[in-house]
Amino acid sequence: MRRILSVIFLVGLYWLNKFKKLNKTLSMRQKEFINLNDKVIDSEKLYKSIFDASPDAIVMFDINYRILIASKSANEVLGFEGDCLVGENILQFFVDKESKRIEKNIRRVFNENNIGTTNYRGKKNNNSTIYEVNSRAIKDENGNSINLVSIIRDVTQKVILEEVLEAREKQYKELAKELERKNISLSERVSIDNLTGIKNRYYFDERIKEEVDLAKRQKVSFSLLLFDLDHFKLVNDNFGHDIGDKVLKRVTDAVSKIIRSYDIFARWGGEEFVVLMPNTTEAEAVLAAEKIRKAVEDIIHPDIEKITISIGIAIWEVDDDVDQIFVKADKALYTAKNQGRNRVIVYKKS
Ligand code: GH3
Ligand code: MG
Ligand code: MG
Repeated sequence: MRRILSVIFLVGLYWLNKFKKLNKTLSMRQKEFINLNDKVIDSEKLYKSIFDASPDAIVMFDINYRILIASKSANEVLGFEGDCLVGENILQFFVDKESKRIEKNIRRVFNENNIGTTNYRGKKNNNSTIYEVNSRAIKDENGNSINLVSIIRDVTQKVILEEVLEAREKQYKELAKELERKNISLSERVSIDNLTGIKNRYYFDERIKEEVDLAKRQKVSFSLLLFDLDHFKLVNDNFGHDIGDKVLKRVTDAVSKIIRSYDIFARWGGEEFVVLMPNTTEAEAVLAAEKIRKAVEDIIHPDIEKITISIGIAIWEVDDDVDQIFVKADKALYTAKNQGRNRVIVYKKS
């Protein structure tokens, strides 16, 4: 009997020790669990505070557009006057005609995850708000989209500013174009002779300087034709100044048709005209001058019988400056007049 009692006692002692150890382990585990729980609560608080600190609305909703979570700022951003956004339909904050586009885009986010940033018009402030919405799908452990998180930003002011800037830029561009057009027509007007519509002396003065520079640099020659209407004073005296003007116009029209596009034809003054023929030999210049002379002679005038011109030609020679070549052409013209008019004379050193 005593032996039985001592066995029971020993077994009891063993189990007591075992329970004590188990109890100690349990209370250690309990402490660990409490610590972990505190940490989870701290972390949740941290995320919630970040979530609520966002000035943009952060909203999570399900496939049926029901809001599940909303950041603090969401009420104000979306213009919601109730207390709690949870359970509300997200579509109600956008103008009705946007619904189809939003629904389509939400389905795309659910299926493809990210579609980038999209702007929608919101109902807040009498349908005048513009929201920039960026959405992502939240997935379950199997990778299936279950909910959707959107960051909704009120970009009304930004968009208005952009539109104003865009309109201004368009205005400035149109203004610049208009200015360019006016500039071109101004520079054209400055270089055109009013009566005949051909280039004027101002323009020619500039161009002949360029041609002389070019001829010097490239060692090529050019020809200068100076022509004057014969006995033109008689036209004015006999038929009047207006008829004289028309004759001048007919002569310049006829010459314009003959010369090459790169020849420079200008009114030198009164009834005197110049033609600069770049890269032209004496023989070519004489041929061109004869054509011009003939064309003027052949004009049929309704008011006068006929008009002729005398032409003096100078071929540019190395070291000739602008004045020198004009003197040569003028001398040749003078000779043409003296020899009886209606003819072409090339300047020759005497
Ligand atoms: P020549 O054969 O020697 O050149 O004789 P011309 O009569 O042509 O020469 P003159 O220099 O004596 O006369 C030129 C005339 O050209 C005088 C002037 O009134 C006239 N004239 C100059 N410019 C114009 C113009 O723009 N319109 C009109 N109708 N006549 C003009
Ligand atoms: Mg004259
Ligand atoms: Mg004359």
